[in-house]
Amino acid sequence: MAAEGSSSAVLEDEFYGAASGWVEARSTCDHLSSLSSDLSQIPHPDSQCSRCHHPAENWVCLSCKDVLCSRFINKHMLFHHQETGHCLALSFSDLFVWCFACEAYLDVQRIWQLRAVYKTAHLLKFGQRPSFPVIEVEQLSNTQNEG
Ligand SMILES: [Zn+2]
Ligand SMILES: [Zn+2]
Ligand SMILES: [Zn+2]
Repeated sequence: MAAEGSSSAVLEDEFYGAASGWVEARSTCDHLSSLSSDLSQIPHPDSQCSRCHHPAENWVCLSCKDVLCSRFINKHMLFHHQETGHCLALSFSDLFVWCFACEAYLDVQRIWQLRAVYKTAHLLKFGQRPSFPVIEVEQLSNTQNEG
């Protein structure tokens, strides 16, 4: 007997039609605990994809520091996420951090756990540290009246 007729209901989420081109970065992410404990050393931004050897503009997994190509090349970073569950990746192309679990870009300036690796990547790619806006407490300067 052929057992046919397994009906699977596919739920389709309806997304709000936010068709604007503006990419909003999240300031929170619940998956930061999966970050590698040592992000002071990361592969060079010119590193090849470890699977297909695509030469540039790859992603680095922030859990295991594997370098893999983007969804526009051979999707190896995406496959890596699906195989391992590692969800945080930094783009060597533009230094954005993407969370596959949140399906969102993360704000590297507001998430302090990401600032160090962003700085490291920026230093490797451009040879200089990024210029973050000053978030520290404003320094009060005492001015003396001149008379
Ligand atoms: Zn996340
Ligand atoms: Zn690849
Ligand atoms: Zn990984």
